[in-house]
Amino acid sequence: MVHSSVLGFPRMGKLRDLKKATEAYWADKLSKDELLAEGKRLRLEHWKIQKDAGVDIIPSNDFAYYDQVLDHIQMFNAIPERYSKHGLSTLDEYFAMGRGHQKDGIDVPSLEMVKWFDSNYHYVKPTLQDNQTFKLSEDSKPVRHFLEAKEAGIITRPVLLGPVSFLHLGKADRGQKVDPISLLDKLLPVYEQLLKELKKAGAETVQIDEPVLVFDLPTKIRNAFKPAYEKLTALQGTEGPQLVLATYFGDIVHNFDVIDSALKGTHALHVDLVRNPEQLDKVVEHLGEKQILSVGVVDGRNIWKNNLKKSVEVVESAVQKLGKDRVIVATSSSLLHTPHTLESEQKLDSDVKDWFAFATEKAREVAVIAKAVTEGPASVKSELEANAKSLQARATSKRTNNPEVKKRQEGVTKEMHERQSGFPTRYDQQKEHLKLPLFPTTTIGSFPQTKDIRISRNKFTKGEITAEEYEKFIEKEIRDVIAVQDELELDVYVHGEPERNDMVQYFGERMDGYVFTTHAWVQSYGSRCVRPPIVVGDISRPAPMTVKESKYAASVSKKPMKGMLTGPITCLRWSFPRDDVHQSVQAQQLALALRDEVVDLEAAGIYVIQVDEPALREGLPLRAGAEREKYLSWAVDSFKLSTAGVKDSTQIHSHFCYSEFQDFFHAIAALDADVLSIENSKSDAKLLKVFIDEAYPRHIGPGVYDIHSPRVPSEQEIKDRIEEMLQYLKPDQLWINPDCGLKTRGWKETKAALGNMVAAAQYYRSKH
Ligand code: GLN
Ligand code: ZN
Repeated sequence: MVHSSVLGFPRMGKLRDLKKATEAYWADKLSKDELLAEGKRLRLEHWKIQKDAGVDIIPSNDFAYYDQVLDHIQMFNAIPERYSKHGLSTLDEYFAMGRGHQKDGIDVPSLEMVKWFDSNYHYVKPTLQDNQTFKLSEDSKPVRHFLEAKEAGIITRPVLLGPVSFLHLGKADRGQKVDPISLLDKLLPVYEQLLKELKKAGAETVQIDEPVLVFDLPTKIRNAFKPAYEKLTALQGTEGPQLVLATYFGDIVHNFDVIDSALKGTHALHVDLVRNPEQLDKVVEHLGEKQILSVGVVDGRNIWKNNLKKSVEVVESAVQKLGKDRVIVATSSSLLHTPHTLESEQKLDSDVKDWFAFATEKAREVAVIAKAVTEGPASVKSELEANAKSLQARATSKRTNNPEVKKRQEGVTKEMHERQSGFPTRYDQQKEHLKLPLFPTTTIGSFPQTKDIRISRNKFTKGEITAEEYEKFIEKEIRDVIAVQDELELDVYVHGEPERNDMVQYFGERMDGYVFTTHAWVQSYGSRCVRPPIVVGDISRPAPMTVKESKYAASVSKKPMKGMLTGPITCLRWSFPRDDVHQSVQAQQLALALRDEVVDLEAAGIYVIQVDEPALREGLPLRAGAEREKYLSWAVDSFKLSTAGVKDSTQIHSHFCYSEFQDFFHAIAALDADVLSIENSKSDAKLLKVFIDEAYPRHIGPGVYDIHSPRVPSEQEIKDRIEEMLQYLKPDQLWINPDCGLKTRGWKETKAALGNMVAAAQYYRSKH
């Protein structure tokens, strides 16, 4: 028979229970035992949900208090000494690596956290030493959780991150030279031991994730699979469990030689057929003789109902070639990236709600598909029919299709993407118009989002204060931040974004084509969750979205006021996009809506306009080559379309929360923004070298200080930073600004840091 399986389940719980518990523990409001008990309760609940949904193969060890990669770091004892030397409890040492520890005389920052492939989830990077050793921790969490489930009557398939991915996703610690993959021989015995222990505990199969197989891999990484998997597969069925090797977020066709030489020996291979359905036939050809294929047909990255009929067909085509016993139906990846359950959404209109499936519902989809293939469609007739009806309703809904938007898209021309003149002409006019000094100072948009602001917004949302009262409150906030900027003598002002709950949600709420949930939270990192808006239909802007606040701000300010928008790619990437039209189409719709906003801002007297695109980079396809170029081309076009409607004298800024532009610098340059502000204070200033090498002609504000910490940089530190930047940028090219927005900071450190920043800029101004 065809079994159903889930690769991983979200951990937060129905009401973000895990977030609440961990944060209470951090605040000393919950004891360690209480937190551990809450973790256990959630695990049991999640296993039960999957069991009740009819899933045959349920994962364990997918749970983590902070991050699953961090769990492996601790489990393998790959803990840098700066965390291990304090005698912290195992749990506190774990959180110290995840989020830093500043308590009882201990002061260590966290390990580096980076985005997990092309998702908005962040993992903690394994950070390795030249003399690194590994040792399996005494408390083997995968074994413990397996037994916990077993006791509850559920036999699970433990999930491990594979050794090659663990190392390839890691890095040498600061000051260390070790090449992570060179540690493979030292790491493998730990995996062997762990697999043996799991087998002893009763685990017949283990899911071992090697997601790096979707990348273009350097030879030494490709070559690492063979020795690793010869060892691990040799244990299969005797001393160790059967291995299900899982890949996701891309295809593995370009790594078939690795599969051939190293991975055919695993019991099963899982591939993502949502992202790359076309790989199925080739993967089938490359399977080992008895190897089982796990076909990921239910999307682990989105919230749309599965097309069950189509999935059944895909699975059946695999069954025809392999037989029922060699096919498993699965989610494409872990469901970590989807919200917990649709049941919690009480406010969604029922027509739209019927289009969605969150983790709990997806678990059922996997089971239904497997049953339809095993026992025939009649066995799940009513579910298949209901599914077909939902899909039909969605395809023909008025919400999905807006003929006016389509018509406008047809009228988009090449010229609409270009500013009237080239940069030199524009710059002359902007100089004349804006009268900015050398080394102009500005901020990235938001000022501290105080408790007062949140309380007031909540009251307004709940109807406890009127729209008018709320507007008065926002105006006062705007006046206050302008007074602060006056005092600080900044050059280009911002209104502070007090009216915005979130830089994507705020715009989504003001556009047609979006819907919002109340509980659809997805883990972003640690205890932090985001609640992405959902694009359900063609997007348009019924009315101006930001003009009122910016215009008011400009009217009470004596210096140029910068308008502040979130760009089309970021709006798209930080939402759940539609899956029925290409993302480039959705980006163009967003671009047209934003273009109208940009033009309206200019008409309202805003002559500096910043369009933030921090998510541009994470949208980059995981492999270099044609696909990446295609993405960059439509992404750049959508930015240009949104900004090119203004006069030459209006200055367009853009902002990025990173400065590693090396691999796609041509796209950044092609945006044709007059000024770029980029996060740079924690990275090497050498990254700016690309701007000289490529003779970048326009202006740049690399962040001069880190806004993620309350620490106040001294004036001298900022001067040193500027001095370094001047090695790579010309004085009349350089803007002075912080790394990013200040919304998570307090007022005290914000004023002090900006004061030092302005003083440093003034010093350089007087020198030039
Ligand atoms: N303008 C936004 C802010 O200042 C930018 C945030 C971001 O880049 N993530 O908050
Ligand atoms: Zn930023």
